Amino acid sequence: MEIYDTAIVGAGFGGLAAGAKLSQQGYNVAVFEASNELGGSAGKYERQGYRFQSGATLGMGFEEGGVFDSLYDSLGIEKPPMTLLNPIMDIHLPDRTIHYYRERHEWYLEIDRHFPDVKEQVKAFYDEVFRVGAIVDKLVLELPIFPPRTMSDWLGMLPAVNIDSSRLIPYLTQTIQQRLKKFGLADHSLFVTFLNGELMDSVQTSVDRCPAFLGYAALQTFHKGAYAVHGGLATIAEQLAEFIKQQGGTVFMRHPIYGITEEEGSFRLKTKREKVYKSKQVILNNSAHNLHDTLSAKLAERSYIKKEKEESREAWGAFIIHAGVKEEVFSDTSSLYHQFIDPGNPEGLHDGGQFLLSLSSGEDSGMAPPGMRSLTLSTHTDLAKWWDKEHYDSRKQLMHDRLINIVDHYFKGFSDGLDIVLPGTPVTFQKWLRRNSGKVGGYAPTGRFSWLNSYSVRTGVKNIYQCGDTTFPGAGTLGVTLSGLMAAKLVSKQG
Ligand SMILES: Cc1cc2nc3c(=O)[nH]c(=O)nc-3n(C[C@H](O)[C@H](O)[C@H](O)COP(=O)(O)OP(=O)(O)OC[C@H]3O[C@@H](n4cnc5c(N)ncnc54)[C@H](O)[C@@H]3O)c2cc1C
Repeated sequence: MEIYDTAIVGAGFGGLAAGAKLSQQGYNVAVFEASNELGGSAGKYERQGYRFQSGATLGMGFEEGGVFDSLYDSLGIEKPPMTLLNPIMDIHLPDRTIHYYRERHEWYLEIDRHFPDVKEQVKAFYDEVFRVGAIVDKLVLELPIFPPRTMSDWLGMLPAVNIDSSRLIPYLTQTIQQRLKKFGLADHSLFVTFLNGELMDSVQTSVDRCPAFLGYAALQTFHKGAYAVHGGLATIAEQLAEFIKQQGGTVFMRHPIYGITEEEGSFRLKTKREKVYKSKQVILNNSAHNLHDTLSAKLAERSYIKKEKEESREAWGAFIIHAGVKEEVFSDTSSLYHQFIDPGNPEGLHDGGQFLLSLSSGEDSGMAPPGMRSLTLSTHTDLAKWWDKEHYDSRKQLMHDRLINIVDHYFKGFSDGLDIVLPGTPVTFQKWLRRNSGKVGGYAPTGRFSWLNSYSVRTGVKNIYQCGDTTFPGAGTLGVTLSGLMAAKLVSKQG
């Protein structure tokens, strides 16, 4: 039986980035994907002439020197066509629409328009965001193995300890809310509402719970360049999988892996059809939520990731609607992305209190039939309520109506312009993307030191690594790609 060098469980962005890097270095890589599609939460599916994005829609890291730009450069592949977004998105609040511009000077003019009473403080805050975010970026691009678990991880972090990183200390120990206090902005309800919306979208949390350095890194990333990738972000997954195959690797679709065991110096990976594969090393890209199902009990007990603790950590679900929509409904706006924030929503920032509408670009004919666009609406949702069978259908209908009605309020004729409408809940995410209990987007930060609870790419089991949104630096296609590259770095250094 062939023994692979590295088996990768899950063809999400993390696993594919790791697989591409390792196969380029000559490793015999096999990727095992449970479903029929590549890209996981940033994948796609097709229905009735539309291409729908399974979760993620907003692409980042494609600017010069960005994570994907550098990855593509190092692999020698050409980036797919994409539309640069400016404004990044329009943010709709009950009394105004804020254009979230990419260019700093344009964004600062927009700040003057919407926050005239505190404009200097808001700009000073953003100056800090850009300054600190750039330092965080530089450190993370070094692919530190964080939190350090071995002497070599600690030693590997030494080069990062310099004057620049010491400037980070206040932001490693405070929340965004604490920083806002310094600028006299913590009680400014409009600015806090706006910022909560942006943080929820990028870091899955609000100003009071968000470690400052994490929030700053995410906020400044929007301004480096946000893109609608043609064909959706799944195009990136397809290109990375193709690269792996060209390098001699194998990508097995419809191959769910479970109960990995160790035997004579290699790992045995079983699929549902009881087929067995062998590999010297394994990278798990199917989230720490699934670790205890993917490894045999004997291997899992060697990991520091304990089932009970893992299950008790906070995570969000997602409620999503995919639909076709007539493009004329959006003829008055050039923005493809629209965020809706309802500060009066009794549920808070989730379950419709904050949500994103993404439209495919008119330049991207592969996403929808002529005259139509592929559309995604997505909001964070409280997971618990979706597992009560009795109320499932009524809750789904309620959420569907809530989101559609809000968009209808801002864009006349929206609901009449819809073609097919496909709502999805955490149950859908569990079924199609195997996200345990429907948890998506990693762990939501819960306070200033919550980042210290991150899981590193080490699982604690020798020669088994992990990557993806439950691994440092966390969720988003950028974060998971970085953890994929960190895992590849460890594999190629032999741990
Ligand atoms: C609604 C929503 C909107 C989002 N919006 C954005 C956005 O606009 N921009 C952005 O950058 N990020 C966004 N994100 C976050 C981003 O999509 C995720 O953080 C990222 O895609 C997760 O990647 P991953 O590598 O962790 O793997 P995942 O995407 O979780 O993929 C894991 C893969 O593993 C497979 N798998 C699971 N179990 C097994 C098994 N036992 N055997 C084999 N295969 C298995 C799954 O089928 C899946 O394909 C969004 C997420 C959601 C849910």
